[in-house]
Amino acid sequence: MEKPIAVVTGANRGIGMEICRQLAHKDVTVILTARDEVKGEAATSILAKENCDVQFYQLDITCADQIQKLIDYVQSKFQRLDILVNNAGVYLDQELSPLSINADTIRQSIETDVCGTFSMSKAVIPLMKKNNYGRIVNLSSTLSFSVNMNDGVGLSYKICKAAINVMTAVLSDAVKDYNILINAAAPGWVRTDMGGEQAPFSLKEGAETPVWLATLPDNSPSGGLFFNRERLLW
Ligand code: NAP
Repeated sequence: MEKPIAVVTGANRGIGMEICRQLAHKDVTVILTARDEVKGEAATSILAKENCDVQFYQLDITCADQIQKLIDYVQSKFQRLDILVNNAGVYLDQELSPLSINADTIRQSIETDVCGTFSMSKAVIPLMKKNNYGRIVNLSSTLSFSVNMNDGVGLSYKICKAAINVMTAVLSDAVKDYNILINAAAPGWVRTDMGGEQAPFSLKEGAETPVWLATLPDNSPSGGLFFNRERLLW
């Protein structure tokens, strides 16, 4: 089999960058994308020094033109795309009560976390269909669970991650005849800029579930949310 090609979004730092590292260690050619060119190039160069097969492409997932340019690039350079990890995300109301935000906070969050994830998935599916192979992984969170709605903060983030669970299930059904598996990953509470220093999980641990889902064999589950190789009910 040819070396698989993967695109990872929001990969200049945190879990996304670690997903690139772990995929490269599994002999995948990785296109590390980030909206900030300088930060993206810097992350790529760190991984390249570790002998990872990683290249950079600039991508803001809220920008339709940039998504199309990436697809054209992948099509002309590789003629295939095997893996998409929708990692990019924002947590705009991490410490804010729902009564202190306004609808713009929710709108902005949805623009990135939901619409960006959807637009990326929709854009890569035709490329995946051509090869009758694809793995799409959406970064969700246990904060989308109905039992986690009472800590007083994070309404916009919870709306987005719940929407990602729904999107994962509905889109996976739409591509079930093409050997394209779409799953959501809960990485756990991970030490990143978003997760903070007190989080219990390392980057390495946080990237394990998304990388496992990105490299699932044929006939594996699709449409679910997983943590630590176990399906979770939301
Ligand atoms: P992070 O350190 O804040 O990194 C988020 C990444 O997303 C950054 O690279 C950021 O780029 C990028 N990004 C944001 N908006 C973007 C856009 N419009 N286009 C492209 N990239 C964009 O977060 P993380 O902790 O690594 O989290 C990664 C994913 O895991 C997120 O989806 C998050 O919700 C999810 N998650 C994290 C945890 C946790 O405990 N850390 C738990 C559950 C789920 P800039 O550097 O340019 O801002």
